[in-house]
Amino acid sequence: MLFLLYIVSLLSSHAFLSPVPNNPLFKHIDDHTHDYKQRLKDWVAIESDSSDPSKRDQVVHMMQVTKDYILQLDGKVEMAELGEQEYSPGIKLPLPPVILAEFGNDTNKPTVCFYGHMDVQPAKKDDGWQTEPYTVTEKDGNLYGRGTSDDKGQILALLHAVESVKKFGLPVNVKLFIEGMEEVGSHGLEQLVEQKKNTFFSNVDYIVVTDTPWLSTKPGITYGARGNCYFFLEVDGARRDLHSGGFGGTVHEAMSDLVYLLGTLADVKGKILIPGIYDDVLPVTEEEKKLYKDLVFDLEDLERDTGIKTFLHDTKEELLMHRWRFPSLTIHGIEGGFSGSGTKTVIPAKVIGKFSIRQVPKMKPSVVEKQVSDYLEKQFAERKSPNKMKVTMVIGAQPWLANMSEPQYLAARNAVKKVFNVDADMIRAGGTIPIAKHFEDVLGKSVMLLGIGGPDDAPHGQNEKISMHNFIEGTKLYASFLQELASF
Ligand code: MN
Ligand code: MN
Repeated sequence: MLFLLYIVSLLSSHAFLSPVPNNPLFKHIDDHTHDYKQRLKDWVAIESDSSDPSKRDQVVHMMQVTKDYILQLDGKVEMAELGEQEYSPGIKLPLPPVILAEFGNDTNKPTVCFYGHMDVQPAKKDDGWQTEPYTVTEKDGNLYGRGTSDDKGQILALLHAVESVKKFGLPVNVKLFIEGMEEVGSHGLEQLVEQKKNTFFSNVDYIVVTDTPWLSTKPGITYGARGNCYFFLEVDGARRDLHSGGFGGTVHEAMSDLVYLLGTLADVKGKILIPGIYDDVLPVTEEEKKLYKDLVFDLEDLERDTGIKTFLHDTKEELLMHRWRFPSLTIHGIEGGFSGSGTKTVIPAKVIGKFSIRQVPKMKPSVVEKQVSDYLEKQFAERKSPNKMKVTMVIGAQPWLANMSEPQYLAARNAVKKVFNVDADMIRAGGTIPIAKHFEDVLGKSVMLLGIGGPDDAPHGQNEKISMHNFIEGTKLYASFLQELASF
């Protein structure tokens, strides 16, 4: 009897691993694994580091190679030229063109536009890479190399998915919007989106960003991101730096004022003490709570990764909510004070404290700016220091939150179920994704982040990788998503 149960459980666990054993589309993808890996090797070998002026021609070349592959797949391609970038005074560099591509334009079908980038972060073997960063090296089921995860591997998985689905008939129109300057701030991209609003983007129903990792080994779909309000808090004292032997005990020190003010911003549990700051934060709904319950997020991994034993919150749910859906305040540094090694007996004349608030829907940067200024001015007035204080908000990037009942979210969840036989993790980004908000604001379309990166891919670090599992099953995920989307 026990033996029978064992057999039954083996059978069902096998069914769990292969929900669609005879799917010809998935078989096609499995059969082409070798080609897909080879193409990733070829593309990673192009050192398209957008931050290095001496490699700009490689970024431009990378865009050309991408274009050629899309043409090979019978896509239509327009290269949108962005002109030149003033890199430093007197030095101009060509901006790589943006790829605007199209597969099919049947007005009876929905149109989905994917966004991604072909440029990469810098990488040198000397930085601590165990392998050559621009030579894809396969080890223990992983493909190591700069751009394997961010973002060449993800874009290639998408292109391979398009290639595969086309063999069986593309049920939706696919557009691609691929840039080459993402890692250095997407020069000219926002204007291009605005310019193309009534042409390239006019028939687009859905936008999918293919440049994002999962939270765990379970596939994740990202539906929100926090914004960022970054502040400079300047305190001005003497006309010049003073000697603490000569002036200590006789002047109001700018640094003392600044440290005091910074200390009034949040308490030891991370609660922001600025009045009204939590007023616009959306309440947690029961439905939302359910999304957090099944997320795979290992607190022990987090402890190992950070070396921290006690976090601000105790449970997985609380930690993730405070990363994704509650605001947080971080003090980043102080400019102007003495920060070198050794001792220096200086009283700095002017100091600038730098802090930011990661704000969430429905908080508005302009409101946050006023709340922060009013609060600091009040604190400073009460301190009765004769020094001068100034608060400036230097970044006011908005948060983003999508409507998860849009068809593309349902299609993506179905696709995850079909390929992996699990329910997708519905996740958010703790950081800021300006392009998602920009697409939504300018085009008024539903935006979703569907990436295939793993949680430990180290996208900007040494030894960046993508696992073979994510690369190939991720290709199936995109392929399946295109098919599922057709049914809405
Ligand atoms: Mn990226
Ligand atoms: Mn990146």
